[in-house]
Amino acid sequence: EQRLSERVRNIKPSATMSVDAKTKSLVASGQPVINMSVGEPDFDTPTAAAFAGIRAITNGNTRYTPAAGTVALRQAIARKLMTENGLTYAAEQIIVSNGAKHTLYNVFVAICDEGDEVILPAPYWVSYPEQIELAGAKPVIVGCDESTQFKMTPAQLEAAITPNTKAVLLNTPSNPTGAVYHEEELQALAKVLRNHDVYVVLDEIYERLVYDVKQTSLAAIAPELQDRVIVVNGFSKAFAMTGWRLGYAAAPADVAKAMASFQSHSTGSPSSMSQAAGLTALSHFDPAVVETFQHRRDVLVEGLNALAGVSCLPPEGAFYAFPDISGVIGKRYEGTPIESATDYCQLLLEKALVASVPGDAFGSPNHVRFSYAVADDDIAEAVQRMRQFHQKLS
Ligand code: PLP
Repeated sequence: EQRLSERVRNIKPSATMSVDAKTKSLVASGQPVINMSVGEPDFDTPTAAAFAGIRAITNGNTRYTPAAGTVALRQAIARKLMTENGLTYAAEQIIVSNGAKHTLYNVFVAICDEGDEVILPAPYWVSYPEQIELAGAKPVIVGCDESTQFKMTPAQLEAAITPNTKAVLLNTPSNPTGAVYHEEELQALAKVLRNHDVYVVLDEIYERLVYDVKQTSLAAIAPELQDRVIVVNGFSKAFAMTGWRLGYAAAPADVAKAMASFQSHSTGSPSSMSQAAGLTALSHFDPAVVETFQHRRDVLVEGLNALAGVSCLPPEGAFYAFPDISGVIGKRYEGTPIESATDYCQLLLEKALVASVPGDAFGSPNHVRFSYAVADDDIAEAVQRMRQFHQKLS
């Protein structure tokens, strides 16, 4: 007899959140660990947004809002999508949730039935496969690697589509690879998608964090697909608002309505003060953060590529480096064998006090994810520690 439902029985805790918890406990015990495991900007929520949140509390804006979010925020998001992304949505098509993670779960619940397939390019963000399965569907993994800068090709997409395909997920810029789909690549994928009646779930939460390249939304270049495209975005990354829990989807009207109804019964309205803060944040993006991240990326990627056995493609967006470390597998650190990326990350944490996440969780076991959303000095120090660590490999 099973005490737990089949649905939750095989669910694994989020690998990134577990490494982060372990790291935080090492830090709490006094160890100077540099935490490159978590996808969380190190700068503060824009002051104006923070004060808007405080004002909401002191002004009594502390009650339930409509389940899909306040009209003011939904209108502001619709305006943002128009002016910044070239997308036309009515405020009713915007559903605000407790973070983009929550939004994505609502999306899968709203569109997937048992037995449906969702095409998921790997390396993928850890929560996608779990969420797809929780919604009763099956993730169909399409393996991508450095030969295509970790991007799914039109031929791979075409080959993965079956009569059971319900949706295709595209995360650009990508967590964990930092890959950004360029306009012509999106055009080529759109050409395939035009011939198949499937949803396209676009996770664009890192849209503002691109370096040397332009971010384009597939929804903007293929307006004829709008009836099947769901754009997901949030406030955590661009505005350093991870703790406020605020994300949203722009969806076809029927999907938006279903997501709102589901949300109204499952979690209810998102936090009123967070929504007030988010409304102000939308007009307070600080472009200086892009330069800061770009500089950190350059230092980290150069440092990683200087390590024997490590090879890192320069990411074009987000704030992660995703090097292939297969060259260190089979080596030893002071006698301890490194048989996997997990062993490598474990040793790096214990011996070099640098926290990173092994690639298994992202569907790519020979890689390691390093977040460069940490202070400049910490990046330089982490590179130095890794250099010393690698000198002891034999
Ligand atoms: N999507 C991607 C690709 C992410 O990396 C994250 C956060 O790590 C999220 C969605 C969810 O972010 P949040 O729930 O904080 O809005």
